[in-house]
Amino acid sequence: MTRRIVSKMAQQKIIPKKDIHWADNIAETVRKRAQVDPILKKVVKQKGYIVYDEKTPSGKIHIGAGRGWVIHDCIAKAMRDKGMKAKFILSSDDIDPFDKLNKDLPASYKKYLGMPFRNIPSPEKGYKSFADYYFSECTQKFEEFGIEAEIQSTGKAYDKGLFNTTIKTALNNAEKIQQIYSRFSRKGSIGTKRLPFNPICEKCGKIGTTYAYEWDSEREIIKYRCEANLVDWAKGCGHEGEISPYDGGGKFPWKVEWAAKWPTIGVAIETAGKDHFTYGGSRSVAIAISDEVFDYPPPYPSTRKEIGKAYEFFTIGGKKMSTSKGRGVSFAGMTDYAPATLIRYLLVKTRPHAVIDFDPVGTNKIILLYEAYDRTERIYYNNEHIANEKEAQHEKRVYELSHVGGPISKTQPIQIPFTYASALVQITGDVKLAMDALVCTGHVPESISAAEKKYIVERLAYAKMWTDEFAPDDYKFIVSKSVLKESKDNLEDADISALLIFKDKLLGKKEYTEAECMELIKKVVDESGIVPRQFYRAAYLALLNKEHGPKLTSLIKMIGQKETALILSSLGE
Ligand SMILES: [Zn+2]
Repeated sequence: MTRRIVSKMAQQKIIPKKDIHWADNIAETVRKRAQVDPILKKVVKQKGYIVYDEKTPSGKIHIGAGRGWVIHDCIAKAMRDKGMKAKFILSSDDIDPFDKLNKDLPASYKKYLGMPFRNIPSPEKGYKSFADYYFSECTQKFEEFGIEAEIQSTGKAYDKGLFNTTIKTALNNAEKIQQIYSRFSRKGSIGTKRLPFNPICEKCGKIGTTYAYEWDSEREIIKYRCEANLVDWAKGCGHEGEISPYDGGGKFPWKVEWAAKWPTIGVAIETAGKDHFTYGGSRSVAIAISDEVFDYPPPYPSTRKEIGKAYEFFTIGGKKMSTSKGRGVSFAGMTDYAPATLIRYLLVKTRPHAVIDFDPVGTNKIILLYEAYDRTERIYYNNEHIANEKEAQHEKRVYELSHVGGPISKTQPIQIPFTYASALVQITGDVKLAMDALVCTGHVPESISAAEKKYIVERLAYAKMWTDEFAPDDYKFIVSKSVLKESKDNLEDADISALLIFKDKLLGKKEYTEAECMELIKKVVDESGIVPRQFYRAAYLALLNKEHGPKLTSLIKMIGQKETALILSSLGE
């Protein structure tokens, strides 16, 4: 039932610093809990610390859920770094009923509404089921995101009878569960005799349409009806029958299931998005059931009495979009914008209680993310002066917990600033040529390893994608082959003569470094008597037909000294 995803990082030893990172703090809080709570203590002794998360594979899974996976993975890693036995388990709630036709599905899928996701065919070939298709879309990205998780299937857990004990307890306490539901319901008592269990109809295979009304505790049999009008999204077949609730005969309703999983799996930590943590919402009902029916201490951040704090939303462009809409708001689609490592970094660096709003389209957010990552990296390798030692330690820990792949390199990876990479791919027009240019200009030594090369090429490829698809116009340009007439019309005579003096100097034999080129510009500005700002404006107009551009000395290096001179010489014609 399990598929283990282990990255090479498992073999790596990270020496944790003081508890300056949120994940280290959570690890310590839970360790203390297990010392004082006899039930949790026993569970941890048997199974270690189980960090658990779950998700219904009802369609493309939103990045908001991915935030939870990275948080849980990070907590498990922080625990292991402290020498605690811990693992992150992620379960696919694949026995949940199909209750909404998402826009990616053909209309023919309507007939499956009400059935468990695991019993519905995959919309694409090569997957066992609907559930497997949408869940795999995420889990196959886990290695890229550095998430180490044991993947489970909630449906299989029912089949194997893992829930049999909690099913029996819940059915024997059906009235108590009803009372808990009523306590949290704003409408007061819901006055229903419905049992806290939904059988799978033996006749039509639906689970969303069944109404269980009698529990025969002697025979351990449930009586149910498959109703036509129980829900408005699926129609039952009218079958009336008896079924054993055990070994996959059905499932709990969600809030009871959440509570039942904790003692069944032995969960010590499971947080969730804040939409689950509203008063009377699923978490408050689940912790009451866990406490009063199953006598199990609800996992961190909740206790038997307190719900605790959920993690915040991860929104894209200001909206908490649903899983069924839009490009790239899904977990798997996030790598359309930035490498998984950077998304992980953003999630590890940000406290779970802070909202993340990421708008990669038409903004400089991607640049800022790369710059923040590079800065953290320099701090990790002591290549960036930072006065506040606590902040330095925090950044170093963020870097460790964000790391994806094999052991962290002993030396700092070569950093190509993202704006530089973006300018370079625009000038060369191609990732490979941009890479060659980096070697030619000495930014990258020829002798780098394949892994180092791959890292730089990836950054260039993302820079190309960003400039082609998402960058604001300010960051986009085309290098003119000769100065365009419209640009020339915008230049004063003084600008043109300054640029021609500069051109002559560039045509000198020497290949200038960027610093020398800077000196050269100062000289030209002095000689020609125009102010520096005017010179820069003139140079960008001549080269890019824009009033602004990337750092001029870098731009000249990227275009080439001789090539720049050739463009400028067209001003004299
Ligand atoms: Zn039926």
